[in-house]
Amino acid sequence: MIQVSKPYLPKKEKYLKYIDYIYSNNYLTNNGPLLQKLEKSLQRYLGVENVILVSNGTIALNLVYRALNLTGNVITSPFSFVATTSSLVSDGLVPNFVDIDFNHLNIDVDRIASSINENTSAILPVHVFGNPCRVEDIQDIANKNDLKVIYDGAHAFGVKYNGESLLNYGDATTLSFHATKIFHTIEGGAIITRNNDLAQHIRYLINFGIEDEDNIPYIGTNAKMNEFEAAMGLAVLEDIDFIMKRRKEISEKYTDALKNLVTLQDTSSENNMELNHSYYPIILRSNEEMFSLRTFLNEHQVNPRRYFYPSLDTLPYLNSTQIMPNSRDISSRILCLPIYPDLKDVEQNTVINLITRFFNS
Ligand SMILES: *Cc1c(COP(=O)(O)O)cnc(C)c1O
Repeated sequence: MIQVSKPYLPKKEKYLKYIDYIYSNNYLTNNGPLLQKLEKSLQRYLGVENVILVSNGTIALNLVYRALNLTGNVITSPFSFVATTSSLVSDGLVPNFVDIDFNHLNIDVDRIASSINENTSAILPVHVFGNPCRVEDIQDIANKNDLKVIYDGAHAFGVKYNGESLLNYGDATTLSFHATKIFHTIEGGAIITRNNDLAQHIRYLINFGIEDEDNIPYIGTNAKMNEFEAAMGLAVLEDIDFIMKRRKEISEKYTDALKNLVTLQDTSSENNMELNHSYYPIILRSNEEMFSLRTFLNEHQVNPRRYFYPSLDTLPYLNSTQIMPNSRDISSRILCLPIYPDLKDVEQNTVINLITRFFNS
């Protein structure tokens, strides 16, 4: 079966080099030398000021909410991975959904202002599939209404916007380094911020709220990344240029072959951008067409994924009265195709030929 994604494993020797180091110094976790090295390497690679490594991308979101003292409701996108919404709910915050732009698949910025109320404390947009949100417009709205901006940047690793890292926008951006993501540490995540005070506060929170030996002023948690995870990150980072290049090649080949058969996410912009090709979503004409294509591909050993489904405004535990028609519609007919560095040319050709056959039959 050709799966939608496959975790990237660097050559074993690359990883073992770091594991040998761990065995020689006996430092397994708690802000260890490999973690510090990875933070510095990522700062340089991404072009950002503070990288705080944590145990996963979901706790990264929770930590930012807590450090910024968010209350009440948070404006967010219903078209995302469930963690974007569930992390709010688990911290006692209420998601206030704003529907997505039909073409770009990101939160529709033109609808944000009218959704703000006296209990809104922040905006939590998602750079869906690595496609940048309208970050300047979002910041304008936030400034006018005294709101914080946190980006769920789980898909936005390495994306450039106006010649700099997209991750530099907002009060903070969170990343996920889960095994299936473009860059990974097996499990892991990070918080990116230009605010040094916020960065320091979060560093206390990930270590039980401990400030120093004698003071524990904050309600912290345990969100530490360990040295074995940092080792994987360092080994994967050695190959990042290859990973990015292969993804771009695969993405461009899909686009050449499929652009007249299916609808693609609109990634056009007046801004100068460099995307990361983290996913390859295709949008079918209807829910029925999506299901029949998926069945056809499954029968031929290809497993695309319904990503994102379901639309988050339908989560049962929210009992939400908000209905997001664009998000529900797109969720019902989107599939993500296999894209990962090890995908072989013949495998991609198989996927393309099958989809072409499906539409010509
Ligand atoms: C993967 C993902 C997360 C969660 O990250 P984990 O590291 O798996 O906890 C959050 N938001 C989005 C958009 C994601 O894709």
